[in-house]
Amino acid sequence: MSLRAFSRLYTTVAAAQRITDGFIGAIGNTPLIRLKKLSEETGSEILAKAEFMNPGGSVKDRAALYVVKDAEERGLIKPGGTVVEGTAGNTGIGLAHVCRAKGYKCVIYMPNTQSQEKIDLLRMLGAEVYPVPAVAFDNPDNYNHQAARHAAGLENAVWTNQFDNIANRRAHIETTGPEIWEQTEGRIDGFTCSTGTGGTLAGTARFLKEKAGKENVKIFIADPPGSVLFGYFKSGGKNLADRTGSSITEGIGQGRITDNLAPDVDLIDEALHIPDEDTILMVYRLLDEEGIYVGASSALNAVAAVEMAKKLGTGRNWLESKNLATAIPDHLQKYVVLP
Ligand code: PMP
Repeated sequence: MSLRAFSRLYTTVAAAQRITDGFIGAIGNTPLIRLKKLSEETGSEILAKAEFMNPGGSVKDRAALYVVKDAEERGLIKPGGTVVEGTAGNTGIGLAHVCRAKGYKCVIYMPNTQSQEKIDLLRMLGAEVYPVPAVAFDNPDNYNHQAARHAAGLENAVWTNQFDNIANRRAHIETTGPEIWEQTEGRIDGFTCSTGTGGTLAGTARFLKEKAGKENVKIFIADPPGSVLFGYFKSGGKNLADRTGSSITEGIGQGRITDNLAPDVDLIDEALHIPDEDTILMVYRLLDEEGIYVGASSALNAVAAVEMAKKLGTGRNWLESKNLATAIPDHLQKYVVLP
């Protein structure tokens, strides 16, 4: 390792280990873990952003912090106010932490298909939780619309609207993307992940494409069964209605193009459809081979990174091997799975 590379690594490590200003200061700066077996097997460097190491346990801490800061900056919430959100759980957990740290109340609407562990944790954190029937976005009883109505009926309350509030993607333009760039010293050839709001994919893609040049870094969107995005991209943006199948994954899959994804749809080079069978096998591969016990969306992302490696091909030796990044959005401890 060159002296320059060493001093940069040392600075990065030192930065990650600095004393942080409370819970909020500990969000971000997660390690980029090289998945050894998958890297050896593909001949590419498969690098996974360890988002489960955020203090609230998921990638959504980043968005939670940004949407609350955005509401404060725009004067939408004053001290003692209430944050209301519709969420599959992880954004709620991030928000509940951020709200406690900042002295806000937190109200969460979530589909009743999500794990009991997430509901219990939210209640432990003091959030008011409403599990509601999982109905499509165009139904007025969808959890997001219920959250919006709840906030509208309260004084000093904001619906943070993670799906269409672009402060969410900004979190990844300003933190996740730059961190990956720094951690790979600018040697990044591809990024892939699945989407819920689309914030992680779009924000990271936007930063990396702008920094590296549009053609120098490839962006692949990874979709579970039951989500429309794969069909949408494969049909060149014509078909937004193919909801074939359903998935055991939580927090990902989408029925529309959110405002977080919309500005960066053109940055997506390829779409991957990942069946649940491959995702479940990868949960156990990552446990056996890497010792990482990750949630299903993380396993799906790892499958996608392997697919990406196959599609992009590799160089002749390790110096030429491609650096392909993905995300480990959360840990499996939030989901009870018996081996
Ligand atoms: N994985 C998990 C477990 C999630 O909870 C989420 C967010 N719902 C995502 C992935 C997707 O993140 P994003 O909203 O940034 O697309």
